[in-house]
Amino acid sequence: MKINENYLKLEQSYLFTNIGRKVSAYQAEHPDKKIIRLGIGDVTLPLCPAVIDAMHAAVTEMGKAETFRGYGPEQGYDFLRNAVRDYYAQRGVQLKSEEIFISDGAKSDIGNILDLFSADNTVLIPDPVYPVYVDTNIMAGRKILYMDANEKNGFLPLPDPAVKADIIYLCSPNNPTGAVYNRQQLKAWVDYALDCGAVLLFDAAYECFIHDPALPRSIFEIEGARRCAIEFCSFSKTAGFTGTRCGYTVVPEELEFEGASLNKFWLRRQTTKFNGVPYIVQRGAAAVFTPEGQEQIHKNIEYYMENARAIAGAMRNLGIWFTGGENSPYIWLKCPGGRSSWEYFDYLLEEKNIVGTPGAGFGKNGEGFFRLTAFGSREATLEAIERLSK
Ligand code: PLP
Repeated sequence: MKINENYLKLEQSYLFTNIGRKVSAYQAEHPDKKIIRLGIGDVTLPLCPAVIDAMHAAVTEMGKAETFRGYGPEQGYDFLRNAVRDYYAQRGVQLKSEEIFISDGAKSDIGNILDLFSADNTVLIPDPVYPVYVDTNIMAGRKILYMDANEKNGFLPLPDPAVKADIIYLCSPNNPTGAVYNRQQLKAWVDYALDCGAVLLFDAAYECFIHDPALPRSIFEIEGARRCAIEFCSFSKTAGFTGTRCGYTVVPEELEFEGASLNKFWLRRQTTKFNGVPYIVQRGAAAVFTPEGQEQIHKNIEYYMENARAIAGAMRNLGIWFTGGENSPYIWLKCPGGRSSWEYFDYLLEEKNIVGTPGAGFGKNGEGFFRLTAFGSREATLEAIERLSK
């Protein structure tokens, strides 16, 4: 048996292990200090009542012979696919239910979609970025090109006509930088992808945090995207499903390469290798799109966004350069005093008892930057701001 040697090329990810080790060591030495954690990318508010009620009702259905459900459609139940379709339609994006595939979250689909593409393809990935894009392509042995996201371009790199790629990753609102592409910028990417004959993999996991109506929340708001893009989305940050697990991927029917339909390929891939999301979870996810569900999740999103605005306001007052915080739960700041990401991490931990995430953990261009998140409690966020402002 020969192993997939590409796994040996993966860099060990020490980021969260190192953070955990440093925080535990500091707390053990200073048991009286109250540490505030603004480093996590996980949500903290519970599932909303509409979701819980729908899941309870589904559990009851599963306990009765007349309403029990066994294997469901691998691509998701129609009630959820139609609800997602209608959600897009509210923003003027017309999708067919057959173009929507329900999954157990965006992370799985982002990794699994690579089954559809040849290992010979060249991949273009922004740096810094959500590390899953890089690692899944290293595992498959693909050549990776990086595009620089930096202070100069506001962490929103645009296409370079001199660079040619086959698979392009975009994440907007971005993790970790919180930066959001506008319509014109996304149009440039769509035009470039169409020009190159590339596929655009668009990660919209944080679309619900976009409040500015001028900013696109889906790549399919951009003309031409149906011929070049796949979109990944998730209930994780939208509705607190990080532990419940549900997401969806949109593969338009127009998406054809070498005469083959990627929609058909993905359906074939999912029906072969995936057996669907639990009925109970899909019922909970569908409840997110009901009027009560929408009202309740927006209350939670607004709670996080108020945290984000408070952190962003503190950065402005302190004269610290940052991106995000307006249409994103992430605040990406330039470490004051020219410190490295890890130096600033140590400073915040030891002097302010605040934990964030060093930007260097997200790629080489993350060095000298730092990520704070709005997913903490209001109380902890405000206390952290007070400590930072002193
Ligand atoms: N995409 C981005 C940019 C993320 O930050 C995350 C999670 O943090 C995901 C995808 C994964 O989402 P899910 O929980 O649906 O797998």
